[in-house]
Amino acid sequence: MRWDPIRKPQAARAAANLTDYATACRDFDWTAAGSALSGLPGGRGLNIAHEAVDRHATGPRATAVALSCVDRHETVTEITYAELKEQTDRFAVLLGELGVRPGERVFTLMGRAPELYIAVLGALKAGCVVSPLFPAFGPEPIRQRLTLGEGSVLVTTPTLYRRRIREIRDRLPALRHVLVTGEAETPDVTALRPALAAVNPAFTIPATSPETPALLHFTSGTTGTPKGAVHVHGAVLAHHVTAAFALDLHAGDVFWCTADPGWVTGMSYGVIAPLTHGATVVCDEGDFDAKRWYRVLSAERVNVWYTAPTALRMLMRHGPGLAKEHDLPALRFIASVGEPLNPEVVVWGQEVLGLPVHDNWWQTETGAIMIANFAAEEVRPGSMGRPLPGIEAGLLARGEDGRAQVTGGHVREITEPDVEGELALRPGWPSMFRGYLGEPARYEKCFADGWYLTGDIARRDTDGYYWFVGRADDVIKSAGHLVGPFEVESVLMAHPAVAEAGVIGTPDPVAGELVKAFVSLAPGAEPTEDLRRELIAFGRRELGAVAPKEIVFDQHLPHTRSGKVMRRLLKARELGLPEGDLSTVEQP
Ligand code: AMP
Repeated sequence: MRWDPIRKPQAARAAANLTDYATACRDFDWTAAGSALSGLPGGRGLNIAHEAVDRHATGPRATAVALSCVDRHETVTEITYAELKEQTDRFAVLLGELGVRPGERVFTLMGRAPELYIAVLGALKAGCVVSPLFPAFGPEPIRQRLTLGEGSVLVTTPTLYRRRIREIRDRLPALRHVLVTGEAETPDVTALRPALAAVNPAFTIPATSPETPALLHFTSGTTGTPKGAVHVHGAVLAHHVTAAFALDLHAGDVFWCTADPGWVTGMSYGVIAPLTHGATVVCDEGDFDAKRWYRVLSAERVNVWYTAPTALRMLMRHGPGLAKEHDLPALRFIASVGEPLNPEVVVWGQEVLGLPVHDNWWQTETGAIMIANFAAEEVRPGSMGRPLPGIEAGLLARGEDGRAQVTGGHVREITEPDVEGELALRPGWPSMFRGYLGEPARYEKCFADGWYLTGDIARRDTDGYYWFVGRADDVIKSAGHLVGPFEVESVLMAHPAVAEAGVIGTPDPVAGELVKAFVSLAPGAEPTEDLRRELIAFGRRELGAVAPKEIVFDQHLPHTRSGKVMRRLLKARELGLPEGDLSTVEQP
């Protein structure tokens, strides 16, 4: 079915940040755009936290609300830019007093409470590298990431420490300090609040260059351990510019990004980008709840809302009645990211909320939005939109393995419309990742012939709008979370009853995909209902939110010639596709 484009009223188009797409694409220059930032005083370089906090704290927005923190009981605590400067200065001083040096890794594992923002921005001020973890992870993904990232400091809650960290702490030799947001229940942790109150807050951000590492975001691949994508302070320019172009963010807006800061969207756009604009960031500590979300949108008078397809589909399920009960006169712009946005949702936004949903595309490695539907342009339901000014995207012809075909070091760019290819980007924007931590070869493999290869398959229409087709690899997107099948398989295979596992994503109307495991049992283990339940519980305990929802026993898992489980064949069977089709795609 073809969906009609959604056009915008003239007044909305005229008020947008980006009114003339073609001219902006022609004239945009990252160096010139850098003048939007102030840089560290005295020409000492660039620091994300200075751009996000200090320059507003010492300017006209000092008393404006930087963070509007809604706790689980919907009690709101407001923190101004001046207050946020002081708190983050204190955190930076505290790190110094603990002997934590610039370049060391500070991890966070907690929900969206004020301490999270203070820790992230304070650690950036201290020149440390921040690595946020998704608080719904189980102990195993946490242990793996803290180990790979050699975290020296972890900021968490007493409950998460008790449930997820204490049992693995002796396997984390690099972890010197655990700071907890509540009371210190044991002597091996430090209570954050009293420690912050005790320090002298006088602090000057040390010199940091735009190339100084600032953020470490773990992401999953098809095989191997999670990859630590390294981002630098210079990324802040891309955060700032893309929030203006793709989210139509203006100074003074109230902005709500519903992504958890443990994922790249929640960090780039839930913390950094809106603060660089002097906006008010809504930080909702609660979990998804349709009524609560409408209440937050209404009570906080949110102007710009950045959310995800799964959440929107869950809101849709509640029908238009619930939405209509809430008055949302302040809401001006809705955007979505992270997984395919079905056209029905875009149209639902227009019909029920009076605004279309603007899909946009990017990934952990790109650090910022690359392709988007814009405020002043028509929205094509089902399309991710067009590349941002300053971003060159292309589609590359694919080989048998489904990825861009590289022959003699060269690729072939697809110029015809509506032909599928691997989505690629020309490196050069400031938030491009600078490496996978400790894995230069894995990083090198992401590039060919001057392109960064995204691993996504897309097509482009005659007007340059990109349409997502799928992933070229086996990674799973469940409720917007990227899940590496290998990580899940490894955990399941640690159970004594499991000989081998193959993990795939199966279609789900709300979450996009659900994680499903096919398991062959070790000799002596019986495929009983009790064992299935035990394995589900085991997965849940070790992996947390990324655990398989379904487990199927299968003593005849299909293998490639080299002996790897053929996930694609499992998927073909699951989808009822002819096996021959997909077996040709599997790599030996
Ligand atoms: P992550 O690195 O976890 O942010 O995941 C990035 C991946 O999510 C991309 O490579 C895509 O496969 C998927 N993704 C992100 N945005 C979209 C979108 N608008 N439509 C479809 N898939 C998306």
